[in-house]
Amino acid sequence: MSGARVILRVDGVSKKFGGVVALDNVSLGVEEGGIYGLIGPNGSGKTTLFNCITGVYKPDKGRVFFDGRDITGLQPHVIARLGVARTWQKVRPFRNIKVIDAVIAGGLLKTSSIGEARKIAEETLELVGVAREEWGKLGSEISLMEHKLVDLARAIATQPRLLLLDEIAAGLRPHEQEKLAEVIRRVWRERGLTIIVVEHVMKFVMSLSRKIFVLHEGRLIAEGAPEEIASNPKVIEAYLGIRPA
Ligand code: ADP
Ligand code: MG
Repeated sequence: MSGARVILRVDGVSKKFGGVVALDNVSLGVEEGGIYGLIGPNGSGKTTLFNCITGVYKPDKGRVFFDGRDITGLQPHVIARLGVARTWQKVRPFRNIKVIDAVIAGGLLKTSSIGEARKIAEETLELVGVAREEWGKLGSEISLMEHKLVDLARAIATQPRLLLLDEIAAGLRPHEQEKLAEVIRRVWRERGLTIIVVEHVMKFVMSLSRKIFVLHEGRLIAEGAPEEIASNPKVIEAYLGIRPA
């Protein structure tokens, strides 16, 4: 990955909620075309970092640069249009919308032509492996796994360059998680996207990422290859609350 250009740079970002320091002076760089993991115990600031990158929150301090451009504090739809897409940790089930229409809505971010957006949606649903007979079903008629795939397809249909996945494997069975990891790998390979995966399931992140960032209590405490991270005493301490011997 080295030598690639930096597509995302987070520079000294801090964010507080009342007395809670959700992010404390976080800096990191992400190279174009890479697949990264972002891990950390519950409440360590992972979702808040995604929210600061995507414009849901404005950082109290620090800057966010996407593709060399300062995007700090821009509106979410502006940042989305520049090429940053995300999925949400809390699945937002759509009950009365058809699968295909949920994905067309993503496609409409970059085109005003319904026909074009439909074509994008169909290609994307095929890419993530949602069978054609599911496309006409309502949200209330599909499984959690299918919801996750459709949400992923909706994000990809916006044609992003950077894709942020927030605990997309949560709530799935192990074999579904493996299938989802396969899908993400395929999307990454075929679309040449840059992807950051936030995940609690260690095995999921470790198998996907080339490089992992670790947050603990709002601070970046480690970054490196999965093997380095797994044996890093600071990381073990953050997760287990004990200092390894
Ligand atoms: P993670 O995604 O790593 O579990 P979060 O980024 O969701 O962690 O949360 C980091 C900290 O910030 C937690 O203490 C959480 O309670 C707090 N927090 C996050 N969002 C809000 C908010 N909108 N209002 C108040 N506190 C928040
Ligand atoms: Mg979270």
